[in-house]
Amino acid sequence: MDNIIVAIDGPAGSGKSTIAKLIAKKFNFTYIDTGAMYRMITFYLLENNIDFDDLKEIEKALKNINLDMQGDKFYLNDIDVSTKIREKRINENVSKVASIKIVRDNLQRKISNNKNVILDGRDIGTVVFPNAKVKIFLVATAEERARRRYNEFLEKKVEITYDEVLKSLKERDYIDSTRKESPLKKADDAIELDTTNLTIEDVINFISKEIEKNIN
Ligand code: C5P
Repeated sequence: MDNIIVAIDGPAGSGKSTIAKLIAKKFNFTYIDTGAMYRMITFYLLENNIDFDDLKEIEKALKNINLDMQGDKFYLNDIDVSTKIREKRINENVSKVASIKIVRDNLQRKISNNKNVILDGRDIGTVVFPNAKVKIFLVATAEERARRRYNEFLEKKVEITYDEVLKSLKERDYIDSTRKESPLKKADDAIELDTTNLTIEDVINFISKEIEKNIN
């Protein structure tokens, strides 16, 4: 059997990472959270005061960045940054960093396809793995997506209002879908699923059926 690649794309809060993690567990696939990779690079650039317009410095920085993921933990040069990469300042800057071509090229080279993988992101089905066997594009209304993110922040006791979350999410949607380099866009052959009124279980069942068609 060929390696199976499952691409889950969609905007922030559409359910990608929750779903991808559960599917990975169910099918024993490797899960790659590509958003977390962009978040780690953003964290590094901010910590080192690197200007997002200074391409020379960014190129140098990329050579010094080593990214690793183990389960739910994300390591930047061997330091656990799992919590830090979800902070507000990262949310506010990550889309700018992800629109830089050398950053995208660098990350895309680091993503491997030598096993059964499920990846979530913005451009997995369009650019990173255009030949992925299963391509899903998750969507949901901005209000529902903001509600989900807001609840996550509440659980973590982060002080933020729903309106702030909604505004930041819409800004990211805008930058991600209008940028020149691999914009957020449904691949022609991806299946679009609106998760606004679906349970996690509904979405898992739907995607599982798509994967099973390729396994059997
Ligand atoms: O999925 P997550 O919210 O963690 O992604 C953070 C940001 O990283 C996105 O808003 C987007 O700007 C960028 N990203 C991307 N391409 C991907 C995954 C994430 O541009 N494949």
